[in-house]
Amino acid sequence: MKYLIWGTGKHCDDRLFCYPQILEETVCFIDARGGVIQEWYGRRVIVQEEIQNYAFDKIVIAAVQKYDEIKRLCMEQHGIGEDRIVSIDRLITQKLIDGEWEPGEVILEASTLCQLDCVQCYMRKGNNLSYNAGYLRFSDFKKLIDENPFIRSVELSNNGEIFLNPELDQIIAYAYEKNVRLTAWNGVNFNTVSDGMLEDLVKYGFRELFIALDGASQETYKIYRRKGDFDKVIENIRKLNAYKEKYGSPYPRLTWQFVIMPSTENDIAAAKEMAKELGMEISFRLTWDYGYAPADPERIKKETGLDCISRKEYDAKNELMYNTSCLQLFTRPAINWDGRFVGCCCPAYDLYPDSENVFEKGFLPVYHSDNVNFAKGLVTGRQKDEGEKRVPCQTCRFWPTMKKKNAYIVPADLF
Ligand code: SF4
Ligand code: SF4
Repeated sequence: MKYLIWGTGKHCDDRLFCYPQILEETVCFIDARGGVIQEWYGRRVIVQEEIQNYAFDKIVIAAVQKYDEIKRLCMEQHGIGEDRIVSIDRLITQKLIDGEWEPGEVILEASTLCQLDCVQCYMRKGNNLSYNAGYLRFSDFKKLIDENPFIRSVELSNNGEIFLNPELDQIIAYAYEKNVRLTAWNGVNFNTVSDGMLEDLVKYGFRELFIALDGASQETYKIYRRKGDFDKVIENIRKLNAYKEKYGSPYPRLTWQFVIMPSTENDIAAAKEMAKELGMEISFRLTWDYGYAPADPERIKKETGLDCISRKEYDAKNELMYNTSCLQLFTRPAINWDGRFVGCCCPAYDLYPDSENVFEKGFLPVYHSDNVNFAKGLVTGRQKDEGEKRVPCQTCRFWPTMKKKNAYIVPADLF
């Protein structure tokens, strides 16, 4: 296969970093900045007018926001057939589902401990569910990285606060040494972070932090984030920014994660302003409370740019009911802090059998075990659920709807 990859931005960089094998089949990149940047990842960067000078099999679009626009351009202006256009995520997902590649990213829980008591937290309400309270040991992290060089990126957050892990400093330093990217996309509350840790995050290039800030003042924040201190979080962000300036580093990139709910819906404009001033992106999320009915939906849609702002509305608009979390079984499989396999980031009331322990058995033997293959078969519709309970998917809240609607993961549906 010969690919021309359209895009040289953050999304493309993240994917190429985790799946460098794509480069073996890449002829060159296409970008409006072609000519300004000559070369990227060792390949020429051209402008779209030059496409016809190159022989290729497929155009791979690596620009999420502009996918539809670029696809239309390819078809209408360059006469490229739809069957020769694919998104980079779909390409990677297909390879992973077909078992041709191993996952370049994993979710590895750094800590299920937490100092807050958020109103809807399933972990606090459920006594840590099956995950148990604990934290990832540096020795286990090191072993996983040393034994599996194809793992290039590790997401550390999921069911607790990563900064309560007393060995996090060693984990961050070792990841840097081994050129493994660390992220906390699932979120951190950022209430308790030492100055030394703030400096380490910058010094060792921790890639990305999503900071959960529901509200734009202590008054609103504390209604949901009980025991949390809004001003302390803002102070930590300012200190982190000062270290970024000192080291001249853009990392960690920061995103303000804001859940829209009754206590926060009037703080949206203020939060956007504060995020801008703090150099943060802002990401609006829907509450999992199905009873939420926004007071002024049109105003909130306008302020957030979202086209649906409640779960009920979202479900009604998205006919395919499978959760994108199912993709993680392939693209970012999740592992508990003690090594037990979890599969995805969805709250699990049961984990995989204890025998599927990545720290004891090794990542690949677990990832390709009968039990995990069974789960992969279920979510892709290739395996029937005969009723015998084997994996967490069978008790997942999405499973009954997926089965009823035959809504399994099919990469062709992705985009
Ligand atoms: S910060 Fe996260 S883990 Fe901690 S109580 Fe809140 S929702 Fe739960
Ligand atoms: S069915 Fe549920 S538990 Fe299984 S991968 Fe999908 S979201 Fe996760």
